[in-house]
Amino acid sequence: MDDQYQLKDEKNPSGPVIVKGKYKVWVDRNICIGAATCVAVSPKSFQMDNEAKAVIVRTIDEEELDNIIEAAKACPVAAIFIEDENGNRVFPK
Ligand code: SF4
Repeated sequence: MDDQYQLKDEKNPSGPVIVKGKYKVWVDRNICIGAATCVAVSPKSFQMDNEAKAVIVRTIDEEELDNIIEAAKACPVAAIFIEDENGNRVFPK
């Protein structure tokens, strides 16, 4: 594992992780094609691992929710999922 970033959850590199104490965020590694658009939009949230899949990094908690959603929207294959604390889908709807 690249040590240029710190994972939010070492056991679940691509999530699901709990962000800001209430949002569940994950990357479906089977869908992710490694386009890295999410990293370009929100490098505080996403980085690429050595399998060219997006992982979720610790600084995601410092990122604005809107920017996390923007990164999810920017993913060409919609591999990023966000749910609120009630299990309602924030993105994709
Ligand atoms: S933008 Fe989507 S496909 Fe590209 S690395 Fe991120 S999650 Fe994977």
